[in-house]
Amino acid sequence: MRALIVSDIHGNLEALDAVLADARVADRLDEVWCLGDIVGYGPDPGPCVDRLRSLSAQAVAGNHDLAAVGAIGLEQFNPHAAEALRWTASRLTEDQKGYLAKLPVTLERPPFTLVHGSLLDPVWDYVLPQYQTPARLAEVFRMQRTQFCLVGQSHVPLVCAEASLHFASLEEGGWELPTTARLIINPGSLGQPRDGDARASYLLYDEGRRHLQHRRVAYPVSVTQAKIRKAGLPETLAARLEHGA
Ligand code: ZN
Repeated sequence: MRALIVSDIHGNLEALDAVLADARVADRLDEVWCLGDIVGYGPDPGPCVDRLRSLSAQAVAGNHDLAAVGAIGLEQFNPHAAEALRWTASRLTEDQKGYLAKLPVTLERPPFTLVHGSLLDPVWDYVLPQYQTPARLAEVFRMQRTQFCLVGQSHVPLVCAEASLHFASLEEGGWELPTTARLIINPGSLGQPRDGDARASYLLYDEGRRHLQHRRVAYPVSVTQAKIRKAGLPETLAARLEHGA
């Protein structure tokens, strides 16, 4: 079984299609896993939902997905995010909203668990050093029933090991999964990277070889930016895409 692992698509159809094309050239795909935030910020929320549904993706809900369907209040978001979420809600069909509203907040696909934030706070948490004390991070790991946990939310590709509670950035390239070490892994963001690299970030998993591959792929950022500007969304949401910030 081979799986494409993506997170934080954020309504960026150009990035999603670039990743799907790149992944299919790299490998055969049997499953698509998504770690939430399919919508929000970006100009194509509905088409991104439809694309994932057409691929029978196994997806968990992110905070933006739940806010776009009214399950989370917009007062918890910064003004630009809230404005984009109001616009997003107006662009989604009832059918698309129904799909987002029914997404679970965690999924187990052994040896992986899928969650947007963390197992301690599935929708909102950030598994980043500045948001976690060692004690809290240890508690997050204690809740993990599988060897690996895939998280999104921070838009930063990284890996954290339970043994050391040490964070390392996830470099491009492939690696064999360890036999015993328990890890939290963030594939980075497909549609709005925030690690200084504007290219879409994602993972490929090969179950037979116990192999993960971190890939980055360029997409036509200017096309997505033009759509954001045409929709009248905040300029900063367009500008940040070319900086990966
Ligand atoms: Zn996000």
